[in-house]
Amino acid sequence: MIYSFLLLLLFVVFVTATDYYKVLDVHKSASDKDIRAAYKRLSKKWHPDKNKDPGAEDRFVDIARAYEILSDNTKRQIYDRHGEEGLKAHEGGQQQGSNPFDVFQNFFGGGGHHQQARRGPSTVTEFEVSLADVYTGQSIDFMVKKKILCDHCRGSGAASDGDIHTCTACGGHGIKLVKQQIFPGMFAQTQVTCNDCGGRGRVIKKKCPHCQGSKVIDHTAHYTLEVTPGMPEGHEVVFDGEADQSPDWEAGDIVLRVRTKKEKGSFRRKESGLYWKETIGVDEALLGFKREIAHLDGRKITLERDGVTQPGFVQVIRGEGMPEFNSAQRGDLFIEYNVVLPLEISPPTRKKLLEAFHPNEAGRDEL
Ligand SMILES: [Zn+2]
Ligand SMILES: [Zn+2]
Repeated sequence: MIYSFLLLLLFVVFVTATDYYKVLDVHKSASDKDIRAAYKRLSKKWHPDKNKDPGAEDRFVDIARAYEILSDNTKRQIYDRHGEEGLKAHEGGQQQGSNPFDVFQNFFGGGGHHQQARRGPSTVTEFEVSLADVYTGQSIDFMVKKKILCDHCRGSGAASDGDIHTCTACGGHGIKLVKQQIFPGMFAQTQVTCNDCGGRGRVIKKKCPHCQGSKVIDHTAHYTLEVTPGMPEGHEVVFDGEADQSPDWEAGDIVLRVRTKKEKGSFRRKESGLYWKETIGVDEALLGFKREIAHLDGRKITLERDGVTQPGFVQVIRGEGMPEFNSAQRGDLFIEYNVVLPLEISPPTRKKLLEAFHPNEAGRDEL
């Protein structure tokens, strides 16, 4: 009995001393981005629709409340300085907090007035791959130089958490009221951004030695581009949220626009069709031939013609073109024939050709 009473007492103590930072499992200096990320992760994990643990709903409600406070700069400042009591005084007559399910709905979209977090710039890069890689499919490793949050100060720019102080010039508001005399005896009050803290409300006494206070560091990141067979020319592959990081925004995307390298003497591609130019001699053009070419995957394709092949003739080989994107179908291979004539012919050959083509005139040439 005493035991359960103690437990109850502990529970009550826990509830009244809810630390919103602990609820979201973030540090006191967490950036807006950290808070969003934490909420995104935890609210999904504890959503009562998914999580059937007893107590999941209570956790979900706490998480929503914590996010509501910490994602709102004004409420967060009041909470930091005056705690839960200060917040209650601030919220006063207003409705007591929001419906945790509305908070969730707004965050994950569907809610009308969702405040979009600022996103950093995305980068779009033309990325050249060989036609053979698009034909067979290929994993291509590449590196990107980018900025990431400093891992020493986690983006605060301060040597330690103790070096982050509320700006004394503006009292942490980031703005100051300035009295300006517009006429003798007449003053106007204007709001200006605080110079001392640049509007952040906080100043750093000792800069982080790792990033020199810049909050981000240079980093070389490794990625793998999956080229799928038949990927269309100019297809964009998005690496979500992998562009430059900053404490001021949610990182944009790295976008690769896949292009085929121009290679001389190789296949050309037009959608699912492949084009190849084959040069044959006049003898082959007239008498027929059998020869092999190497396909993009190294397989030998036999080209065979009986009889006459006209210059510019296009032979279609069904199913030997490009694989179609996200499909089991294959396009066709088009072979265009180019006929070369010999630079000169010997007198005996000329004689034979005359006999063959102009039997009536054959004797006259020798006169
Ligand atoms: Zn200031
Ligand atoms: Zn740093």
